[in-house]
Amino acid sequence: MLIKAEYLSKVYGSGENKVIALHRANLEIAAGDFISIMGPSGSGKSTLLHMLSGLDFPTEGRLSYDGQDIYQLNDRKLSAFRRRRIGFIFQQFHLLPVLTARENILMPLLLDKKQEDKAYLEELAGMLGISDRLTHLPHELSGGQQQRVAIARALIAKPDIIFADEPTGNLDSKSGEEVMKMLEGIWRNMGKTLVVITHDNRIAQMAERRFVIMDGILQEGVAVR
Ligand code: ADP
Ligand code: MG
Repeated sequence: MLIKAEYLSKVYGSGENKVIALHRANLEIAAGDFISIMGPSGSGKSTLLHMLSGLDFPTEGRLSYDGQDIYQLNDRKLSAFRRRRIGFIFQQFHLLPVLTARENILMPLLLDKKQEDKAYLEELAGMLGISDRLTHLPHELSGGQQQRVAIARALIAKPDIIFADEPTGNLDSKSGEEVMKMLEGIWRNMGKTLVVITHDNRIAQMAERRFVIMDGILQEGVAVR
């Protein structure tokens, strides 16, 4: 798998309210990469992640997965592509409050009309330490447990790539560290490609390839202090 972003830009608003959230970003992501993207609040991190993962259209530029320009796909095909190929992890977990942990994890398969793979669900739950939490509702779980449920949901459809937008941003430092260790383990042991957005330097340092974004401008390999 090769993801290629060429001159990706995103402009919000117009006139006085115009914000250049992302300015001509170039990036290649190869299978098995572990990439961190670090930058201060408002620097364009989430915007970049949304562009890279097909969640929102760029104003300019091109994004291809294995040579296919995914923004040329129609809505239905793009949604299906995302469900099957891409896993997301959000800072705010985004679990559905009325569904149990198990139902939340299985949601991507349900949306795709796929059979649940019980053995794989059990394996993920065991690996993430949530086997005894599966019948609970999100509000009955700690933040760290909710994020681990969200990680299982991101993995259930066996995507190639996981994008995580400040996955520890809503967690205390101990559960944040656990969550990052699990993500690193998923990259190392399951061979997933991992792109983590963070403003935490310690997390950024865990990655093999490190990018910094400032005022919408993305750069690789610059020293982070
Ligand atoms: P980060 O994730 O690094 O905090 P964002 O990518 O969310 O930054 O935002 C980058 C810039 O784009 C900010 O100035 C933000 O206010 C602006 N922005 C983000 N989303 C929107 C939107 N939907 N409409 C207008 N401006 C936006
Ligand atoms: Mg953000």
